[in-house]
Amino acid sequence: MIGSEKDFARSLLKWYDRSRRDLPWRVAPGSPKDACPHAYHVLVSEAMLQQTQVATVIPYFHRFLELFPTIGDLASADEQDVLRAWQGLGYYSRARNLRRAAQAIVSDHGGRVPSTADGLRSLPGVGAYTAGAVASIAYNSHAPIVDGNVARVICRLDRIETDPRERQTLATLWRRAEEILPAKRTGDFNSSLMELGATVCTPRSPQCLICPVSAHCGAFAARVQDRIPPPRKAKQTPLLHRDVLCVRGEGDTWLIEQRPATGRWAGMWQFVTVERNGRRPSAKDVQTATGIAVEKPMLIGKADHALTHRRYAFDVYVCATRDAREPAQERPRKWVTRSELDRFPLPRPHLKVLRMLEAL
Ligand code: SF4
Repeated sequence: MIGSEKDFARSLLKWYDRSRRDLPWRVAPGSPKDACPHAYHVLVSEAMLQQTQVATVIPYFHRFLELFPTIGDLASADEQDVLRAWQGLGYYSRARNLRRAAQAIVSDHGGRVPSTADGLRSLPGVGAYTAGAVASIAYNSHAPIVDGNVARVICRLDRIETDPRERQTLATLWRRAEEILPAKRTGDFNSSLMELGATVCTPRSPQCLICPVSAHCGAFAARVQDRIPPPRKAKQTPLLHRDVLCVRGEGDTWLIEQRPATGRWAGMWQFVTVERNGRRPSAKDVQTATGIAVEKPMLIGKADHALTHRRYAFDVYVCATRDAREPAQERPRKWVTRSELDRFPLPRPHLKVLRMLEAL
């Protein structure tokens, strides 16, 4: 970084006071400078914002707080209701962990969100980043944070040209994040670093000419900001093929099943889904999978879904049955009407399947 860290913090906070986005989990514009948002709101927003854009999170945040206005409400909520409120946001372990964290806050911390990074880290699913964010933003505790935006900004300010995802570089970034943290307004300072990364010091084409801290930036001085951080090496993610078997019973009922209690989309519900075996599923294949005699399955569409480490290609079939017997129960399965489906948390690909069914 060029110049003093004190001057840098002053410039950054001045810009933040002028330009920050008004977001529902922040204090309202015009509030006193040392005002802090509600710790529970910060905890919820930080869980939602991991891997997810601000614009996507805002309506989920409002709805979540309507359903679970306090830590106690979330702690005592049914897990299925919490997953239902999270439906469509993805990465559902965040929702499960948030509920478990709320339970730990109620049972071990008297219902109050811990105010230190160490205390927060003792909660289920709370890592170094979230602990630092909640401690600093909700309590102005002296806690640094490093997320993707902050890592990129510090790399450019300090002209660090190694990959910020490498262990050694990451350790350097945490050390620097602590060194540049001012004594006061730590929450606003951390938020302003993230805000700068999200709106000005963006991954591609950073807007250095309007940047409030360009005078402090080592990368800009050397005109190397576009190559910091180095591009991520493209990695081929595996593509998994699945057949979705939408079995339709009497009176517009549909057969759904609950996913296992661990792993991807744990505990959520879906239309019966099987690994593709290289050919179109026959009525016999569906009967083998469900124990229910059906008519010939009809292909109604395809759905793709990409996650960080894998991609899915779903072929979606509908098959009718007059066989009203209870389904085979190696997994919990149920017959539900389409309106009853609203009560069950479905992973995003199965929401796409539901839309296909609605269009039939
Ligand atoms: Fe980022 Fe450019 Fe500002 Fe440096 S001058 S912090 S590269 S936007």
